[in-house]
Amino acid sequence: MAVSVTIHRGTNQIGGTITEIATEKTHILIDCGAALRGSHGTVRDEDIVTMLQERHFDAILFTHYHGDHTGLMDRIPPDVPLYMDEAMKKILTTLHKYTRNEAMNALLADADGRIHVFVPPTPFFVGDMKITPFFVDHSAYHANMFLIEAAGQTILVSGDFRSTGYLGKSLQEIPKLLKKFHKTVDVLLCEGTMMTRDTKEGRLLDEWDLKKEVEAFLKDHRQAYVICSSTNFDTISSIYMAAKKNGLKVYANGYICAMLRTFSDIAAKHTGLYNLKGVNNAKQLKDEAKEGFVVLLGSCLGKPMRMMDMFYDFLTNGVKEPWLIYSMWKGYLNPKHSAYDAKLAGFVSEFGEHVKYAHTPGHADRETLARFIGEIRPRKYIIPFHTENAEGFRGLDVEDKYKAIVRTMKDGETIEII
Ligand SMILES: [Zn+2]
Ligand SMILES: [Zn+2]
Repeated sequence: MAVSVTIHRGTNQIGGTITEIATEKTHILIDCGAALRGSHGTVRDEDIVTMLQERHFDAILFTHYHGDHTGLMDRIPPDVPLYMDEAMKKILTTLHKYTRNEAMNALLADADGRIHVFVPPTPFFVGDMKITPFFVDHSAYHANMFLIEAAGQTILVSGDFRSTGYLGKSLQEIPKLLKKFHKTVDVLLCEGTMMTRDTKEGRLLDEWDLKKEVEAFLKDHRQAYVICSSTNFDTISSIYMAAKKNGLKVYANGYICAMLRTFSDIAAKHTGLYNLKGVNNAKQLKDEAKEGFVVLLGSCLGKPMRMMDMFYDFLTNGVKEPWLIYSMWKGYLNPKHSAYDAKLAGFVSEFGEHVKYAHTPGHADRETLARFIGEIRPRKYIIPFHTENAEGFRGLDVEDKYKAIVRTMKDGETIEII
């Protein structure tokens, strides 16, 4: 009896991740994401949907709510049970109230009890597999790794992770939890987003650095717009705290305000760190703009140019020298990159020189990956995924025995773990 691993998509691209773990009796998928724009892979979303229709899966487990891990959820046949944490369920529920995706709204309302909510690190079973979720830091609040025990093997699937957020210490907890549960890891499936992304941006900021930097910046620039994902709650918290320190109010549209309320309700249960309920609706901005302000715009990815122009006119009306704080990956603004977003880049360029770049990456850099591998001590394979540079894992600063077990795969290829 053996367990097998198939990465249906993700061996040569960031996002759109779908991984299968299977025994003779049980087949599960981890994540069911839509491809990110400009991604390198050749497996199309429609190919994945066809596979979902043609095959039977006993469960689909989700690591976190980002679209590159959940984007095909509404295409999964209705008889497949879905496993997610409470934060993901609530955040997606708020999101889809605004996207008006009826299929997702119905799915998340969960009238037929199809959604199973797990609480890390409490294990659960699917068929003959035991699954233990571990909470981990990422630019999505409440991401999870999964430890899967099946056919005498243990497989740790990293999902997306980092250590530079406010909950970054959670990464150090994982080796401790493994020890506590007396678990050794045979196979580590490890994300490698930063194998191609952390080259030229200099020292990586953590959230504390970012808060300090933005706080100093807002002292002299008291009218600022912010481009940052509306579900990157760590960075929004950093900017919110930086604004408060400077006596500035923070504004956002109705959707972002609703999202921040949802998040604050969830997070308050776990930590006193986050409370973003004080963000005001941007409708009030006109009356209060003279005092100075910070406006959260969300990610603005893929917005139509005309709308961006109108948005800019509206936002800058009566404001003398608006500044933009850009807190996302810079690749979206680089015409040479496949993920280039001309509309977003056009909007950013409207601000001319008045752009402040301050970004904390959502993923582990090479150093963190190397440290993590050394602590997890996988015995049989390290399988890179969610990366455009799987080979790069052999160049990590890890012991040779770990370099020797890096196993690069192709999309759709299956390996048996024995
Ligand atoms: Zn991802
Ligand atoms: Zn993610």
